[in-house]
Amino acid sequence: MPTSSKGKINWLAMRTKCHHGNKDTYGNVRVRPLFNFLHAGLGKHLSYGKLIEVSSKIGFPIAPPLTASIDVTLRCNSICGYCDIWKITNKPDDIPLHRLNQILLSLEKLGTKIVTFGGGEPLLRNDLEKIVFLAKSFKMLVNITTNGILLTSERAAGLAEAGVNIIILSLDTLDPRVYERHRGVSFKVAERALVSLLNANDKYPDLGVAVNCVITNYNASNLVNFANWIWKQGNGKISMNFQPYHYPPHQGNLANDEFIPKPDSKRALEEEINELINLKRLGAPINNSEFYLRQIPDYLCAGNLPDNFRCLAGYTGFSITTDLKVLPCWRLPPIGDLNSEDLIDVWFSQKYRKQRKNMKYLRCPKCWLTCHNEKGWYEWYDYIYKFCT
Ligand code: SF4
Ligand code: SF4
Repeated sequence: MPTSSKGKINWLAMRTKCHHGNKDTYGNVRVRPLFNFLHAGLGKHLSYGKLIEVSSKIGFPIAPPLTASIDVTLRCNSICGYCDIWKITNKPDDIPLHRLNQILLSLEKLGTKIVTFGGGEPLLRNDLEKIVFLAKSFKMLVNITTNGILLTSERAAGLAEAGVNIIILSLDTLDPRVYERHRGVSFKVAERALVSLLNANDKYPDLGVAVNCVITNYNASNLVNFANWIWKQGNGKISMNFQPYHYPPHQGNLANDEFIPKPDSKRALEEEINELINLKRLGAPINNSEFYLRQIPDYLCAGNLPDNFRCLAGYTGFSITTDLKVLPCWRLPPIGDLNSEDLIDVWFSQKYRKQRKNMKYLRCPKCWLTCHNEKGWYEWYDYIYKFCT
């Protein structure tokens, strides 16, 4: 491992070395020629969405995993009511920079173009700017999700300088009591974080800023007010993602009913969502598709997904946990372990191919997460796929 004169890791030199060495090594993956053949033949003619559909039909990935999310730390400085990460004792160490470098190298070879750094709370890492810079050197679009507690104007500017494309702030409400019920900390955190994001965006106009709003029993009747305020306050620069509450995976099947609206409030939530859709049609920067938004009440109140829905999340990407396990999606158990396996081998493995079939037919806990099931984003994926490859 290259080191500087002070004995610290010279991460830039290390990235250069890894990047240019072993560029065409794909381990023992015998199916890669098949991927190359199909991808070269169809990739130029079909949109990314179509490639994913064909992949799902034939049970073999013929498009790259365009997205990857990496939990760079499991440490967290918040105590959100709907998450149990902060309760976990014996957390694994953060992923070191040199391992991130190896992972990014594999992602680059696989064709990944969008990487999201999350956690835990990624801003707890003092070297997050270096991580962003490293990922940018692989020519990836880099997103960060944050609870905002450490998001000062200086930190946001530092991340922008490093090249981050989008900072996504978790923000569900403008009501301080609801915020504290959801997030466990004072609403002042959110106010400061929003100002920091807007300041950074003023200075770095290319920096994308977004809020991610989790819909629960507590904020379900105030979504339109929330969206209107964010739209106006941010002068249209802050985009919004809405998604329903999902009970924490570590709780097994025990839903925390406190956050789920009662079945008799489904009608009211449908009306709220209809108004949200109207606001989107008027120009509010809401990223979700209408199809996705319309399903939220039925999912949140009754756990239902659309009729005949097929999950394609196993073909668009994966998640990497802090202890280097590879998850096919947020809910399902690991299909690989980067402590002993290569990421490219995992992507093409029999185990993942079998799991993709289970995912397709929803032999899973079922979720309605934007990152996994928002097909409205395929248009954006296609743009990235076509113009960033
Ligand atoms: S939701 Fe995020 S910020 Fe909140 S406790 Fe969990 S990991 Fe931390
Ligand atoms: S619907 Fe099922 S397989 Fe698809 S992302 Fe959600 S939990 Fe995973």
